[in-house]
Amino acid sequence: MEIKLIERKEKKPKPNQNNLGFGQYFTDYMFEMDYYLEKGWINPTIKPYGPINIEPSAMVLHYGQSVFEGLKAYLDENNQIRLFRPYKNIERLNKSNVRMCIPEIDENMVLNAITELLKIDKEWIPIAEGTSLYIRPFVFASDGNVGVRPSYCYKFMIILSPVGAFYQEGFNPIKIYVEQSYVRAVRGGIGEAKTAGNYAASIMAQSLAKKKGFSQVLWLDGVEQKYIEEVGTMNVFFKINNEVFTPELNGSILDGVTRNSVIQLLKDIGYKVTEKRISIEEIIQSQKKGELEEVFGTGTAAVISPVGEIWFGDEKMVINDNSAGKVTLRLYDLLTKIQRGKVEDKHNWTVKI
Ligand SMILES: *Cc1c(COP(=O)(O)O)cnc(C)c1O
Repeated sequence: MEIKLIERKEKKPKPNQNNLGFGQYFTDYMFEMDYYLEKGWINPTIKPYGPINIEPSAMVLHYGQSVFEGLKAYLDENNQIRLFRPYKNIERLNKSNVRMCIPEIDENMVLNAITELLKIDKEWIPIAEGTSLYIRPFVFASDGNVGVRPSYCYKFMIILSPVGAFYQEGFNPIKIYVEQSYVRAVRGGIGEAKTAGNYAASIMAQSLAKKKGFSQVLWLDGVEQKYIEEVGTMNVFFKINNEVFTPELNGSILDGVTRNSVIQLLKDIGYKVTEKRISIEEIIQSQKKGELEEVFGTGTAAVISPVGEIWFGDEKMVINDNSAGKVTLRLYDLLTKIQRGKVEDKHNWTVKI
């Protein structure tokens, strides 16, 4: 399918690359495509970034039928655009679509849309240390109808945002607490889908944590509130006694591309990685025995985020003297270098544009 281009008259000024923050600036263009029950996905268009027209009755505004993705583009030393494992994101986009009763989108169409949008907004890819161009594809129900049913029309859009480091703290270890009241997802729910509702469910706990001086919460399972699921909007890893553990995918945990990549890289380096159900009690016990060596979160936005303190009620666990651990640092270094084309990409994860 040919993508129609609507050009803008004037380009926007670019933000200062040393002060981008996360998700505050958007590029000159965006991608938009419509779905109608009778016609399927039609009208792929690249047009100037700007407000969109939807009905106040658009179903997404009422019942939250939407999904999104997040991946990054980098410019390498040869001025070539690089994407990290985009097919993983596109595959997950469609898995989320299926879960939310949204029609799937052809994988090549999605990659083509990302590619064409990146080409036209290439000069927005920042090059300062730690920066990248965040790509946000998303789909939402656009049907003007407040009856409860799957929507008959959707929009698929892609917007781009030049970003700096995710955390203001930089690569300093974050302080988190174990959330014991609220849960983000439950068995049989939508935890595995990258959908707005999971975020809506999490922002209350997240904002309370911020107020108390923590940067994230450690989520427990929604049924027994015993087993570790994720940290904030990241997957979580524990290095205990020279082995690495991460919660197994159980339907309420998001299947992170960074998680998947980190598991592979750890195995490459020679670590034993076990995906299993991990109770908070086990973590407390391993800390007491002095075996809890490193804790870190993984996700596209922050890549790897070391955890320095975990609070469980009034009990404080300090990890690795509150500094980033060796393996955490090594993974961050390796992964960011693979993404930017600075070391060999053994697994062929990179897609060049
Ligand atoms: C997106 C996301 C992650 C991280 O996934 P990546 O593919 O590594 O970016 C983890 N947890 C939640 C809840 C997420 O939405």
